[in-house]
Amino acid sequence: MPATNCYCGNEKPFATCCEPYIKNVQKAPTAEALMRSRYSAYCIVAGDYLVATTHPSTRKFHDKASILEWSKSNQWLKLEVMYAEETVVEFKAFFLDAKLKANVHHEKSRFEKEDGSWLYVDGVFY
Ligand SMILES: [Zn+2]
Repeated sequence: MPATNCYCGNEKPFATCCEPYIKNVQKAPTAEALMRSRYSAYCIVAGDYLVATTHPSTRKFHDKASILEWSKSNQWLKLEVMYAEETVVEFKAFFLDAKLKANVHHEKSRFEKEDGSWLYVDGVFY
């Protein structure tokens, strides 16, 4: 990753891309921006943010311990957003698992906006 690019692949630094969302300084303006910031949160193991941006109705399926385990045991390589509309984002996240085996997490995620904040609801996995 070039130093000027955010973890999420946007061509701007983390500090002006995903970090303001993860630090709750700003709200992600779109579902895609939230999705990208959640990917960056996995890269930096920001478990609280990942829990906080999961919709309350599905939060029980994503407890913080397993989120932290999943984010720490993998080495996140890159994100490719394949398709984004208002409430749906399809993406591929490339990573090395704990055995350094190359993997791709391919998901079409659904998001909802509540009280001005985008939240991850659930996804279809390929
Ligand atoms: Zn970013």
